[in-house]
Amino acid sequence: MQVPDVFEYERASSVDDAIALLEKHGDEARLIAGGHSLLPMMKLRLAVPEVLIDINDLEGLDHIRIDGDEIAIGAMVRHAALLESALLAEHYPIFADAERVIADPLVRNRGTIGGSFCQGDPAEDLASVGTALRGSAVIRSSAGERTVPIREFHQGPYETAVGDAEMLVELRFPIRTHIGSAYAKVERRVGDWAVAAAGAFVQLDGDQIADVGIGLTAVGADGFTCPEAEDLLRGGPATPERFADAAQLCHDLCAPVTDQRGPEDYKRHLARELTRRVLHRATARARGEES
Ligand SMILES: Cc1cc2nc3c(=O)[nH]c(=O)nc-3n(C[C@H](O)[C@H](O)[C@H](O)COP(=O)(O)OP(=O)(O)OC[C@H]3O[C@@H](n4cnc5c(N)ncnc54)[C@H](O)[C@@H]3O)c2cc1C
Repeated sequence: MQVPDVFEYERASSVDDAIALLEKHGDEARLIAGGHSLLPMMKLRLAVPEVLIDINDLEGLDHIRIDGDEIAIGAMVRHAALLESALLAEHYPIFADAERVIADPLVRNRGTIGGSFCQGDPAEDLASVGTALRGSAVIRSSAGERTVPIREFHQGPYETAVGDAEMLVELRFPIRTHIGSAYAKVERRVGDWAVAAAGAFVQLDGDQIADVGIGLTAVGADGFTCPEAEDLLRGGPATPERFADAAQLCHDLCAPVTDQRGPEDYKRHLARELTRRVLHRATARARGEES
């Protein structure tokens, strides 16, 4: 049986308390939210923290609400709440598309958006949702808060912009009009991590694409995205031919690796096909042709 190494356990009572505990225990401490990524890593001894700081009691981190011209999502919002949110369904159905294919109900009931972003797994689905939507991440320390574009949040596999004694407290997404969004994933079996996945939003001005965002998961895309494909689409008509050209760029510029989930060329093929599909679906939603 795989068991974690011995560790101390602290239960934070507030965000400030969690940050103070991080400062007190230094490098040897890790926050624990849903525990669905950290605990498996501890059982495999891939993570050996000496102190776990539990943040499940913290208040004020479980909101999904409109704040000015953005949607603000607290770091402790569970996957299940993202799946069920009427506010997100109205503005960004890409979240429900992604959440339906993240793990299983057990994981979705405990796992959090903050944990998903901070884990920084290259196959994390919400990372490419956030990248596609060009959201921002609010990070707090004892010195105050700073805001980082989600496109700069992931700095490499399992590396994020959250520094020592810092905590991710909120994700923010701009509210846009005349838009649709969508997410699609290929997995080997239900509940598995992505072989490849893609997400997109398309904002229309008549028949023209006013703005577009693309996110790519598990295909080694730099920063979970492909800005060249977005540049190609922005300012031109929303046609199947142009979607195919943009999807081809994603195929050419991503950098997947062959692993147990499939060969590199198959993942490239999926990056192209899934990007093409989500661009179509997001556009259909922007036109009110699909829910
Ligand atoms: C069987 C299984 C299948 C899964 N399938 C998928 C899948 O298909 N797609 C997918 O995207 N994910 C999948 N996951 C991962 C799941 O989404 C996790 O819940 C999520 O990745 C981590 O969230 P958590 O709240 O459990 O984080 P935890 O495990 O508690 O923490 C993860 C990391 O983030 C840090 N952390 C947590 N919260 C914060 C914070 N607020 N500020 C700073 N650091 C923080 C922790 O210290 C830790 O390093 C799967 C997990 C399992 C167990």
